[in-house]
Amino acid sequence: MTATAADRLRAIRDRLEAATRDAGRPAGSATLIAVSKTFEADDIRPVIAAGQRVFGENRVQEAMGKWPALRAETDGLELHLIGPLQSNKAREAVAFFDVIHTVDRDKIAAALAAEIARQGRAPKLLVQVNTGEEPQKAGIAPAEAVAFVERCRTVHGLAVAGLMCIPPVEENPSPHFALLDELADRAGVPLRSMGMSADFETAIRHGATHVRVGSAIFGHRDTPA
Ligand SMILES: *Cc1c(COP(=O)(O)O)cnc(C)c1O
Repeated sequence: MTATAADRLRAIRDRLEAATRDAGRPAGSATLIAVSKTFEADDIRPVIAAGQRVFGENRVQEAMGKWPALRAETDGLELHLIGPLQSNKAREAVAFFDVIHTVDRDKIAAALAAEIARQGRAPKLLVQVNTGEEPQKAGIAPAEAVAFVERCRTVHGLAVAGLMCIPPVEENPSPHFALLDELADRAGVPLRSMGMSADFETAIRHGATHVRVGSAIFGHRDTPA
């Protein structure tokens, strides 16, 4: 018998629980974000039926295409934007998402602040840090992260809840997770969004409060991003 997405979800939940316990952390102290990018509503329904309520999407437009129907069917769904955000999408992002993980420059912070004021709706915000300082990757440089969080507060009037990172694919993720944890401490923010299918248990050891797991639940993605 082939494992279904719901089976894989249960297995990931068990591993997350075990990793949390092994790290000496309280049960439930890390939230599983099921990353459903590139998958259709029909692929997502069984995972909702299996009890999952927190989901991550990379693209505003794609999410707006499939999630209104799913939200109409099930109360209490929480949607996280984990992909890069353009300032011309700030309006939709604030209207649609509960948490935005990818604040990484003043232009975005200003656009989000304006929309939060206009809409009277305030998603939780995380600052993405480019811990590997990769030129092609989004995120603020580690050396600027603490000052940027401070500017989000003082210049833009935004409450920042945490930090997020995506370590370089070819590297040991541990030093990146440790760096994000340290920067979050220094910035005085509680949330750490780090760890994906391949390394979420390592991230839990380094204090992840949110792990973002896609392919280990939904299966292989044919389309990139
Ligand atoms: C796609 C994606 C994930 C999930 O990756 P998997 O390796 O499929 O678990 C997590 N975080 C971000 C930012 C992503 O784009």
